[in-house]
Amino acid sequence: MPIKSLELNRTPIRTASPSSVRAVNRPIILELIRCHQPITRADLARITGFFRSSVSDIVDELIADDLVIEERAVPTKRGRVPMSLGLNDATYRVLGLNIRPRQCQLAYAGLSGTIQQTWTFPTPGSSKKLVQSIGKAITNAREALGMSRSEKFERLGIAIPGHVDVATGCILWTPTHPELSNFPIADEITKELGIPATADNDCNVGALSELWLTKKERVSCPSEFVFLNVSDFGTGAGAVIHGEVYLGHDAHFAAEVGHMIIKPGGDACRCGRNGCWERYVSNFATWARYKKRTPYDAELFELMLDGARNGDNRARQAILETAHYLGLGLSNLIFFFNPSEVVLAGRIAKVWDLIEDDVRHAFSSPQLHYSIRPAKCSADDSLLHGAVCLALRGLFTAPKFG
Ligand SMILES: [Zn+2]
Repeated sequence: MPIKSLELNRTPIRTASPSSVRAVNRPIILELIRCHQPITRADLARITGFFRSSVSDIVDELIADDLVIEERAVPTKRGRVPMSLGLNDATYRVLGLNIRPRQCQLAYAGLSGTIQQTWTFPTPGSSKKLVQSIGKAITNAREALGMSRSEKFERLGIAIPGHVDVATGCILWTPTHPELSNFPIADEITKELGIPATADNDCNVGALSELWLTKKERVSCPSEFVFLNVSDFGTGAGAVIHGEVYLGHDAHFAAEVGHMIIKPGGDACRCGRNGCWERYVSNFATWARYKKRTPYDAELFELMLDGARNGDNRARQAILETAHYLGLGLSNLIFFFNPSEVVLAGRIAKVWDLIEDDVRHAFSSPQLHYSIRPAKCSADDSLLHGAVCLALRGLFTAPKFG
């Protein structure tokens, strides 16, 4: 074929420019420093397979941006100690907000995502008052941290107990706060308080927290797992698929396992249907089996869990029935997602040792192979830490092209 006709038929070929290669590699390097610090430039080159010069160009840029510090560790008798890299936890300040039915939690953290200070404030009954209360809490946080006028918080991550349009940070539906439905919380906070904000479902950020922590602790962390949060009045999950939190086709909701119907015609649910899983496994449901006439109270529920451990048979029966339903829903969930691990969060995780056998064997199958473990921290701490991770995620995640 003549060369000319080849050129005529040539379709445009998309290639990576030096700047797009840098945009992909920079968060990879930063994430490796987060997970392996202190780490040397040579080790980064060895792990990534990048040219040493490419690693150094990115590291120099991260140091110039005050995100990374390079220093020499204390010398030993064995001789010269190489310079090591670590995150600069002092300059990139972020906030995480967990919106809960009664009290909101606000957390402050640096680049490492380790929470350094927290505050709480009552959850107001309207969207306008919520933004005002968040503004006051942030002002208090600034004072408590001794921040000058010129210093700023880089970003706020928000955990929402409901459906969120993740692309815009608009709350779509939340059963505990109907007044917040269709409220563009991220935009309002950015506009009113001057802090760029990002919002996501609370169980999604709980999964993000687990991903953040397990990546740091393990050489290889599971890239397919489900974070299951059994909360006071509901049950939800965040599904991690290929190492990323799955958001559904429109990034509005996914893994809403609490509304999986396990008993047609069963108890009425907040979603408008009957027989949803959360109606049988939430703390409220467990409590109702124990003392139907006494309104649910979180502190009383904790006492009930203590009772189950200390010989209160009625309390033990209540949690074992919950274990039965947990096993039922989990067996469906495992067949659906086939994760390598399920991370259980919520108050019920405190008595995991008492319910584990019943959960595992209630609806077991030879085909089901997975592990379940309690979350690394309490559910509220997981969600709050996840909100911080949400605020930081953009720095550590390679952009997608195309
Ligand atoms: Zn439902």
